[in-house]
Amino acid sequence: MIIGAGAAGLHCAGKAGQRGLKVLLIDHAAKLAEKIRISGGGRCNFTNLDTTPANFLSDNPHFCRSALARYTPQDFIALLHRHRIAWHEKHKAQLFCDDSSEQVIAMLVRECEIGHVERWQPCAARAVRAEADGFELDTDRGKVKTAQVVVATGGLSIPKIGATDFGYRLARQFGHHIVTTRPALVPLTFDPVTWEPYAALSGMSLAATIATGKGKSRGGFAEDLLFTHRGLSGPAVLQISSYWQVGEPVRIDLSPALDLHAALAQAKAASQRRLGNELAELIPRRLAEAWLAASPELAAKPMADQRDRDLADLADRLHRWELKPQGTEGYRKAEVTAGGVDTRELSSQTMESSLARGLFFIGEVVDVTGWLGGYNFQWAWASAAACAGALVASSASR
Ligand SMILES: Cc1cc2nc3c(=O)[nH]c(=O)nc-3n(C[C@H](O)[C@H](O)[C@H](O)COP(=O)(O)OP(=O)(O)OC[C@H]3O[C@@H](n4cnc5c(N)ncnc54)[C@H](O)[C@@H]3O)c2cc1C
Repeated sequence: MIIGAGAAGLHCAGKAGQRGLKVLLIDHAAKLAEKIRISGGGRCNFTNLDTTPANFLSDNPHFCRSALARYTPQDFIALLHRHRIAWHEKHKAQLFCDDSSEQVIAMLVRECEIGHVERWQPCAARAVRAEADGFELDTDRGKVKTAQVVVATGGLSIPKIGATDFGYRLARQFGHHIVTTRPALVPLTFDPVTWEPYAALSGMSLAATIATGKGKSRGGFAEDLLFTHRGLSGPAVLQISSYWQVGEPVRIDLSPALDLHAALAQAKAASQRRLGNELAELIPRRLAEAWLAASPELAAKPMADQRDRDLADLADRLHRWELKPQGTEGYRKAEVTAGGVDTRELSSQTMESSLARGLFFIGEVVDVTGWLGGYNFQWAWASAAACAGALVASSASR
């Protein structure tokens, strides 16, 4: 019995079914695999060729190693080839469908059909009880007895398309610890007063580097940054949001490719123009205007009359912009949920609970969170494959 017909649940069901297991897959959502459908802007960034354990956050960072090594991006690519699905590589080894994420859903459904998987949808799992020889589940379509239960209920992100906390509640019921959950891969927000000078930049995007942490930096990323009405988004910010903790600052270099100290010093020696005009040649004009809005005299003064220390200070602030987010846009906008079922109570080989034999957790419900760029789906496929192999082995040994 597999609860949750998302990426991990569908993949696990197909694999287990094709190896001879009788599989029932249930999902409470009216539509199948909505997260796959909306992923990657409708083209599903289904894996990343450069996947390594270093691309994942977890309280137990080595846990993901075994499953990722045994089911690689090449394995998923081979599956796409068998289904004649065309794909392309984008930025930073991210792979997307040429046409549509619907193709990935159709492929996973076909794999389930080949494995004679029975699917009940919509049908919610309401409760799970341990029995002497397995489990009994209450579902919307009645009671089900099963030897093995796979929990593939995903994270808390985007509740309006079916996310629930059922998997976490079930884990707790069986004695598991939950690493505190929080929205990740999510835009950051600032208090309206701090953000007022930058709100007009909404829609502007530029290349940046970003890190977080008090003292020692965590998670340095070089990606695009997007200004929004309420704060910051774009790949750089989504990436750092997974590492950001409440109360900590983020540090941003708004001009990573150009040394503004040197460029402004050179302009002082050579240019007749005003600082405002000169800066607008070095960084996007709207950013230069917003940045100098609080010091109009400085902006209007010709380069030759600028003090070295004012120019150095300006360059410093643009290279080391430090600001404290007030929060995030929350689960409503988060692509994933960080935290989850504590992996110290799961087998990294099989995803089986070490507290309840026959109970498995796969995909995003587990405390393994990938970076932006196809890593979360790769974790869903890999953890599902590890689990499917174990289901087959353990049912054969019974
Ligand atoms: C907008 C968006 C874009 C994304 N883009 C990408 C991307 O391009 N690349 C990438 O790698 N990752 C992406 N992700 C993340 C990725 O979608 C998830 O990490 C992945 O879907 C997790 O797979 P899962 O099977 O664990 O969970 P899910 O795919 O979320 O599936 C869980 C399923 O469980 C069901 N369920 C929950 N509770 C119950 C219950 N009680 N009874 C029955 N069913 C239940 C839900 O309805 C759902 O169908 C994106 C996420 C979002 C929100």
